[in-house]
Amino acid sequence: MLKKDDQVTIEIEDIGTDGAGIGKADGYTLFVKDAVIGDIIKAKVIKAKKTYGYARLMEIITPSKDRVEPVCPVARQCGGCQIQQMSYSAQLKYKQKLVRDNLARIGGITDCEVLPVIGMENPFNYRNKAQYPVGRNKDGKVVIGFYAGRTHSIIPQTDCLIQHECNKQIVETVLEFMKKYKVTAYDEKKNKGIVRHILTRVGKTTGEVMVCLIINAKKLPYPEEFVEMIRNCGINLEIKSITVNINREKTNVILGEKIETLYGHSYIEDYIGDIKYRISPLSFYQVNPEQTKKLYQTALEFADIKESEVVWDLYCGIGTISLFMAQTAAKVCGVEIVPQAIEDAKQNAELNHMTNTEFFVGAAEDVVPTQYEKSGGKLRADVVTIDPPRKGCDEKLLETVVKMAPSRIVYVSCDPGTLARDVKVLVERGYEVKRVRACDMFGGSFHVETVVGLQRKSM
Ligand code: SAH
Repeated sequence: MLKKDDQVTIEIEDIGTDGAGIGKADGYTLFVKDAVIGDIIKAKVIKAKKTYGYARLMEIITPSKDRVEPVCPVARQCGGCQIQQMSYSAQLKYKQKLVRDNLARIGGITDCEVLPVIGMENPFNYRNKAQYPVGRNKDGKVVIGFYAGRTHSIIPQTDCLIQHECNKQIVETVLEFMKKYKVTAYDEKKNKGIVRHILTRVGKTTGEVMVCLIINAKKLPYPEEFVEMIRNCGINLEIKSITVNINREKTNVILGEKIETLYGHSYIEDYIGDIKYRISPLSFYQVNPEQTKKLYQTALEFADIKESEVVWDLYCGIGTISLFMAQTAAKVCGVEIVPQAIEDAKQNAELNHMTNTEFFVGAAEDVVPTQYEKSGGKLRADVVTIDPPRKGCDEKLLETVVKMAPSRIVYVSCDPGTLARDVKVLVERGYEVKRVRACDMFGGSFHVETVVGLQRKSM
């Protein structure tokens, strides 16, 4: 066993779920952040447990063939991108392997083909939403940037390479405004000071931009001056919405409930494929619209919907997948726990003149079984799509889905572990995995989004 501060030379052989490299020193497993499979490195133990430990990458002795110089100057400190030091093609292969390994290890599914990951043309500047924390450094100076990994200390950085290019000018303008009008930055520890976060959203298709300042105050001082400065910040896109969001709580949650519009609308609009969505600062909307389109197209392809068919879209958010499916299906029923999201879903259906949708508010594991009971066990679906948060589905929900006897189930997931666990349940209850394909929504990070197409076995 190794102990803290021991230095070892190891070869990285695998990669953990959080993107850290994994190597062995005399049979003892070490997790090393920033190390790539194939690297031979010198590492220093920072935390030693009984059977494994964590080490810091000290020196790369022989770099892996998959290692690249990260494009971002703060890639190592920042908590945002964990695997930027891996070439993009290696990142995609790693994500494919992660999905395959999880399905085999947790789901016991080894006989299905896991297709290559759908990658991005350019794995930079892909996000449409940015949230910059605003605070002070040790000298009391205002800093805007990103949180360092696992902490709340802010690394000053206005030019994040996975964000839209216009963010740099917006963030620098906010900094200038704060200096000029002596508007204070929020101090997390004391719950004092005004500006907490800057939230921006860009409609990639429409070119509409939203700027929302999250403040710890009833009102923003100098609101007209702020609007003027933001409107003239020099970006070549149209600023459609400037708002403030009031958050006076001592909390890690970024947004408060109240929003005040300072200029333009309280929302922007954007498209995924041919479908238009209205996005407010509080709504959930996929952060990478180009890849989202490919993700939904994959889901649609796996769903193979006929015009006469009924679809249930569980965990539907603002109805993104529902509306995509409603282009072909006879009817789509969406279920979502957040009431505001359901309001947005209904509005989005209207915006796109879709009358074949119905939305239910509530936990999917309550709503679906209740609707099933109400129908006297007659509720049926031809296709069910499931897109849960990381923790996956409740077994009660999966059981009811099986009773509804859809001929196809499409499971979209952001966590390969819970995906494998839930798919196993469906396989045990009469479904077989037809196709698996991940789509890369978050280049440079370990996150992976997967679509699994299941078919009911003929009894
Ligand atoms: N399908 C949507 C949203 C997916 S994110 C899209 O692609 O945009 C997962 C969604 O599940 C979130 O909107 C979250 O609010 C919702 N959710 C979380 N727990 C839930 C539950 N128990 N029942 C229904 N919806 C839930």
